[in-house]
Amino acid sequence: MIDAVREMGIERPWEHQARAAAHALNGESVIVSTGTASGKSLAYLVPTLSALVEGAAGPTDETATAPQRTDATNGRGAAGRRAPGRDGSARRSTALYLAPTKALAADQRRAIAELAAPLGDLVRPAVFDGDTPYEERDWARLFANYVLTNPDMLHRGILPSHARWSSFLRALRYVVIDESHVYRGVFGSHVAQILRRLRRVCARYGSAPVFLLASATAAEPGETATRLTGLPVTEITEDCSPRGELVFALWEPPLTELEGERGAPVRRTATAEAADLLTDLAVQDVRTVAFVRSRRGAELISLIAQDRLASVGRGLSARVAAYRGGYLPEERRALERALHTGELLGLSATNALELGVDVSGLDAVLITGYPGTRASVWQQAGRAGRAGQGALAVLVARDDPLDTYLVHHPDSLFRTPVESTVLDPDNPYVLAPHLCAAASEIPLAEGDSELFGPTYAGLVRQLTERKLLRRRGSSWYWTSKERAVDLADIRGSGGRPVQIVEAGTGHLLGTVDASAAHSTVHDGAVHLHQGRTYVVKHLDLDDSAALVEEANPPWTTMARDTTAVSILETEAQVPWGEARLCYGSVEVTNQVVSYLRRRVITGEVLGETKLDLPPRTLRTRAVWWTVTEDQLDAARINPDVLAGALHAAEHAAIGLLPLFATCDRWDIGGVSVPQHADTLLPTVFVYDGQAGGAGFAERAFHTARAWLSATRDAIAACECDAGCPSCIQSPKCGNGNDPLHKRGAVRLLTELLSSAD
Ligand SMILES: [Zn+2]
Ligand SMILES: [Zn+2]
Repeated sequence: MIDAVREMGIERPWEHQARAAAHALNGESVIVSTGTASGKSLAYLVPTLSALVEGAAGPTDETATAPQRTDATNGRGAAGRRAPGRDGSARRSTALYLAPTKALAADQRRAIAELAAPLGDLVRPAVFDGDTPYEERDWARLFANYVLTNPDMLHRGILPSHARWSSFLRALRYVVIDESHVYRGVFGSHVAQILRRLRRVCARYGSAPVFLLASATAAEPGETATRLTGLPVTEITEDCSPRGELVFALWEPPLTELEGERGAPVRRTATAEAADLLTDLAVQDVRTVAFVRSRRGAELISLIAQDRLASVGRGLSARVAAYRGGYLPEERRALERALHTGELLGLSATNALELGVDVSGLDAVLITGYPGTRASVWQQAGRAGRAGQGALAVLVARDDPLDTYLVHHPDSLFRTPVESTVLDPDNPYVLAPHLCAAASEIPLAEGDSELFGPTYAGLVRQLTERKLLRRRGSSWYWTSKERAVDLADIRGSGGRPVQIVEAGTGHLLGTVDASAAHSTVHDGAVHLHQGRTYVVKHLDLDDSAALVEEANPPWTTMARDTTAVSILETEAQVPWGEARLCYGSVEVTNQVVSYLRRRVITGEVLGETKLDLPPRTLRTRAVWWTVTEDQLDAARINPDVLAGALHAAEHAAIGLLPLFATCDRWDIGGVSVPQHADTLLPTVFVYDGQAGGAGFAERAFHTARAWLSATRDAIAACECDAGCPSCIQSPKCGNGNDPLHKRGAVRLLTELLSSAD
């Protein structure tokens, strides 16, 4: 193994790599949480591949003593591969690698083939995911000793048929979890349960694999990894790799002459600014990726930049493109390749690219809008810089409270530690379907509570009452003919994805998650796909399809919704003087009611159109606070200001929460009411946007003082008069940002915080 690493041109590992490998070789689970390009993969590959080499060539292992060479660089084409031994039982060591995306697993497969080339067929990697042809699946199951897959496939494909994987699982020594910071919120909670199911099945076959995690920098990575795996995990956070100089610019787009909603000043959009910067950098031959949060933003930036570059000439406009999730796999591969070779100079990409796909060799990174966490900022900025050379990163602020707060408070970016990754494995909405899946794998027993935690016994009882599980003796069985794994929707897409189909041709352009369909592909919505603009003619909810037609309107669309909340159970509360801060379960009823048309470049609002879509309900967790009449008097808030003050405080609080929890403002929602039916007091709610809660509201409850102080400071510091998108206006407000009262919100929050402990 050491020789193989030397052949890669690496004489000595960096210290953090060596320390991680030492823990792993010692049988301890470990997480490496360091910057981009700090060699995290070598840190887990060295111990993992060492174990495979030993396991494959062990003295008692007669079948592997005369290894036959296979083509280690050929990822596909099982027909050309031969079995390494007589049968799969020859494997004494195996390893499982989990990536959040198929693209990353394919990338890793190439990296391993390269590193392990001098080892012949002692290391036999195979990708096992939804794209793997059936004949190759058998080879992977029987002969591969390094299987690369994703949590979805582990959940749906491997665990339910564990008996067919028995020889692989019996020999399982290491489980590698790459990009583990991605497993946050509800998705993270699902993955936590899938890993518990994996450990349970392994235990049945007598193995207890060691977990090796690689994460972007995050606070308390060891504790998060422990929550994720259910095992004690040692953390390694000191990055000993050499770095070139990074120039980091915070960029606030200027105010324009335009008037926005309710006469508010309008800033130039971050999209337009980033497109200009991308254009300028491309003209100067600077290889750049512009990261954008939305798919639509990624499309727009490339469109604008291509347009500008066309006037410069020299064939430049063809060297800029967009990249996002939702593209078909072959489109994505082609763009990745073009970026690798330098054929592309500029790319505007959603974080589908951020996830570990190797895009080294960049000179500059544009971050269009705060990506939601400081960890992501450093992850994205870390992409710039070839071989220790200097590099440029620019954070272009969007017109919202959080981005504005950050560019005016650089310390909150540069001198504040990155946030911890929030997930809640005990979420009963997540755990219940995995208990059904676990029961279908191996019947459940009392002792499984050790693995599945404190809510286990109660949930098993409920599932038995609902006749999902059946008790026989001291075990619980899954007896239905349905597949138990179908109960868990691990990506939280809320059901069948909606297909986007071109009317006339029937051509499938891509898909959107069911949960996002009402707001993104409603009738009249503008949809962009690789430079082409489409308008949705009809969203068919029964068929899960949106019919679109190519068109060229000079506007984009943005959906609006209304929301009501009722309290189901208050689980925790603290008094702040007369005010009360609470956390608990709520039911949220949400309906998309209309959409706005906004001019493409300026964002100016052109009009609003009503929609007729059914309401949807959600049971989730929320944090809320109430204030009393006396407090309103003390804050000089009279009845005609009250609704505006609460509403403004709610918007800004939602905007600032991502500073404290690893969510973004689209993961959470809010409602404010001058007199709420359940509390009978003025109340502001902030809730998790997914069933059962995602841990964000809980985090907000525990950091409420710091969170609401930052909220007040952000509103007070904004240079506008009566509120703007940089402080209290919200782009997704169902009430058209009316009423809002900026000064009232500051007085209300000041009063609320005055008795906070
Ligand atoms: Zn403002
Ligand atoms: Zn609102």
